[in-house]
Amino acid sequence: MGHFYERKSALTGEVRVSRHEPRYMGVPTFLRAPYAEALDEVDIGLIGVPFDGGVTNRPGARHGPREVRNQSSLMRDINQATGANPFAGCRIADLGDVAINRPFHLEQALDDIQEAFERVSAAHVVPLAVGGDHSVTLPIFRAIAKTGPIGMVHFDAHCDTGDDYFGSKFHHGAPFRRAVEEGLLDPKRCVQIGIRGSLNNPDLWKFSHDSGMRVVYMEEFYDRGPREVIAEAREIVGDGPTYVTFDVDGLDPVYAPGTGTPECGGMTVVEAQIMLRALKGLNLIGGDVVEVAPPFDPTGNTAMVGATLLYEVLCVVADAVGGRKAP
Ligand code: MN
Ligand code: MN
Repeated sequence: MGHFYERKSALTGEVRVSRHEPRYMGVPTFLRAPYAEALDEVDIGLIGVPFDGGVTNRPGARHGPREVRNQSSLMRDINQATGANPFAGCRIADLGDVAINRPFHLEQALDDIQEAFERVSAAHVVPLAVGGDHSVTLPIFRAIAKTGPIGMVHFDAHCDTGDDYFGSKFHHGAPFRRAVEEGLLDPKRCVQIGIRGSLNNPDLWKFSHDSGMRVVYMEEFYDRGPREVIAEAREIVGDGPTYVTFDVDGLDPVYAPGTGTPECGGMTVVEAQIMLRALKGLNLIGGDVVEVAPPFDPTGNTAMVGATLLYEVLCVVADAVGGRKAP
């Protein structure tokens, strides 16, 4: 595995491992993984999706991947809480950003994203994406759920199962309704955690309930706590293929102010970490961290939080990938 991470410097001729350099040094990649231009040796691909044409309020998440790359140099190899070292058992690379060739056409931009993830999926590379707004998860599902509907553990202030909004079906408030309609998501294997905020329509998230998704509103989460909530989530998604999607607005804006649709009264970072770590052992087939909008957080903290969540998702996904690779 070590060989995969070694790169020879053109400047010194020395073989180096980027993750072990001083963290202020080098060209930033996600978690200081090597940048890869080919898919064939990669187990897990870290992929930027710089698109925010689906936002309903504040744009800016198109700048998420670059800032998360920058802040992610703070992350080290070993998860101190769990002992996991994702880099020890998997070949993890930054595959760069999806080229959005038609950024002014929402549905065509989603097609661009789908095509890129289809290439990744065809090469048997497990994707971990960094958005971008939450509309980008739909084309990822179209690419990876080719053989049947998948399950989902979803952290968010919003269910994102709305409908047509000002003439579009494909904004960031509706990807999971579309995914169920398209046969990509099994709603009975979906859990949505952290839901809150005010509404104009009391039935905004009716689709989640009617389709059989488990919706954990923030009040219930606060009363039951992260361990109990995630234990139930594990029961619901079971052994089937499952995707993890983390919208940073699921966190309280104290931790993640740089996002498009913040909602006060959210979860803490440590609660999110406890829940993500507790996904270990599930049949995880991919994940994403979305809605980091750096222009609304000049401190960089939201991007650092996004990088931290990306690392936690990587730890449990790498465990799943390593388990499937083992004879
Ligand atoms: Mn969302
Ligand atoms: Mn949200």
